Amino acid sequence: MSRADTSCVIALAGNPNVGKSTLFNRITGLRQHTGNWPGKTVEIAQGTAKADGSVRVVDLPGAYSLMTHSKEEEVARDFLCFGGPDAVVVVCDATCLERNINLVLQTIEITPKVVVCVNLLDEAEKKKIHIDLTALEKNLGVPVVGTSARSGRGLSALMDRVEDITTPSAAAPARVMYSDAIEQAISLVEPVLAPHLKGRFPARWMALRLIDYDASLMQALQNALGQDLMQTEEVADAVLQA
Ligand code: GDP
Repeated sequence: MSRADTSCVIALAGNPNVGKSTLFNRITGLRQHTGNWPGKTVEIAQGTAKADGSVRVVDLPGAYSLMTHSKEEEVARDFLCFGGPDAVVVVCDATCLERNINLVLQTIEITPKVVVCVNLLDEAEKKKIHIDLTALEKNLGVPVVGTSARSGRGLSALMDRVEDITTPSAAAPARVMYSDAIEQAISLVEPVLAPHLKGRFPARWMALRLIDYDASLMQALQNALGQDLMQTEEVADAVLQA
């Protein structure tokens, strides 16, 4: 998953069956190929959004959560946490938006560079479901664009918003706040952990996962850093106290 030859990497994330592959096909046309994620039997499609190859699009496996209950979710989480995408489009199903918001919030915790794509708008309209995209954008603090990937409606607006967030800006997504006890645990672990992550990985999210003793994430972090942070006394102590 080297990204050395491209100037911009966009990841597509989303629950299964939200039209993510349809969107991917629309954006990349024939400029695509599939391969297996290293070490996993999970197929991942990649393509380029521009003929000059400067914008790479990675179609992540469908995931309900980044707390990883399947190897597909693990692959999606690892790419979002360690793959350094310049932007993440979280594709949602407009006909059942609520159940998609979990993944949106988890992604926002990992990176501020998120655009929410509310897809299947045509289906929602048929079912007389109205979605206030402006209010959603205001609440989430990240761009929200409505689309119907099958017909191509809204896709150029989507790509415009993606381009906007890949240029440096003061993106300030809504912060997900937890109960006082969890926030206190985060405040113990995050400051100790952050210097070890050297700004490469999101410290608040990593702190949360360590507090939760997420073995799969700990292993992935160890692989990414080449070091087991739980062997570092101050980090281990902070996690134990939390
Ligand atoms: P994925 O599992 O998220 O990759 O979903 P797919 O791209 O395979 O799409 C699932 C189904 O929804 C397919 O039958 C698509 O043709 C259909 N689909 C995708 N986007 C739209 C859309 O915007 N409107 C409608 N009506 N159908 C869509």
